[in-house]
Amino acid sequence: MPSGNNDSGLPGEPSVLAAGVREGKRRALARAITLVESTHPDHRAAADALLTELMPHSGRSMRLGISGPPGVGKSTFIEALGNLAIEKGRRVAVLTVDPSSAISGGSILGDKTRMETLARRSEAFIRPSPAGKTLGGVARRSREALIVCEAAGFDLIIVETVGVGQSETMVADMTDMFVVLLQPGGGDELQGIKRGIMEMADLLLINKADGGMRTIADDSAARYRNALQYIRPRSESWRVEVRTCSALENSGVEEAWESMLRHQEAIKASGELENRRARQSRSWMWAEINDSLLSALRNDPAAATEIEALEQAVGEGRVPANIAARRILERFLDRR
Ligand code: GDP
Repeated sequence: MPSGNNDSGLPGEPSVLAAGVREGKRRALARAITLVESTHPDHRAAADALLTELMPHSGRSMRLGISGPPGVGKSTFIEALGNLAIEKGRRVAVLTVDPSSAISGGSILGDKTRMETLARRSEAFIRPSPAGKTLGGVARRSREALIVCEAAGFDLIIVETVGVGQSETMVADMTDMFVVLLQPGGGDELQGIKRGIMEMADLLLINKADGGMRTIADDSAARYRNALQYIRPRSESWRVEVRTCSALENSGVEEAWESMLRHQEAIKASGELENRRARQSRSWMWAEINDSLLSALRNDPAAATEIEALEQAVGEGRVPANIAARRILERFLDRR
């Protein structure tokens, strides 16, 4: 394990860093997250040691996933909700899983200056999306950042993502409650939201219910309530709620917060919260196994030639895909 500061400026001693995080030092928190987000192989051992130390101090927050299409008002809403939660005595961390950071290395969510009033408060911490080669990699780093934030005493963690199927599944998979923000619409709006997302949601919020849009928003809410009757409920202890709000005018935000608190109470009381988190941890373990095995295989020089030859043979229809896969795997595992 490295010690002292290394070239990247990351502190090398995980226990010192862990202590700083637990004392709530901002610098330590930022450095800890930079460390767990690092893709440099030399940092992995230190990041693992840090997470192992922080893990027992995590888990006590409310983990909220928030999604919705670009422009629906996510950052305006999160800012209003975050400020409200702080007034109620919470400490709020906002993390982001931005699918475009894996695809293009760019960012849909992070480029503009977002959530300015929240960002200035000492009770809040806002972290833009980590970059990564794959969406799985991006999501994994956000999940580790979530653990670090909890250990630093943040008790409301908001994980934001944009409405692209897979990143929503990943965010729903690391949070206790999934909130979907929607635009008020004039009748065909139901087609804009995929059934899978409806099945994931615990709370649907029709934002921008202000000015001339108020009645349209009410109408949309009624349509969504109706549509939900035909969707299998995600939870046995919670009935999905549909509400309207205006993040801009700060109306309906408090009611949304109360709905979130009720949800947390309900799933806690029924034991579902504990079960859900246990299931999430197990599924993340398998995702890690999956990723690690694949990257070991892809980086195995002895396998490279054979993989290339078999990929070609499969492409030309000379060898069935399943047989090629088995051959590659068997040889790879024999060499271990
Ligand atoms: P995001 O892309 O989902 O994060 O959306 P933003 O929060 O950046 O908001 C997009 C635009 O919608 C901005 O111009 C906001 O001012 C506006 N907006 C957000 N919430 C509301 C709202 O409740 N009512 C109205 N009328 N506009 C809103």
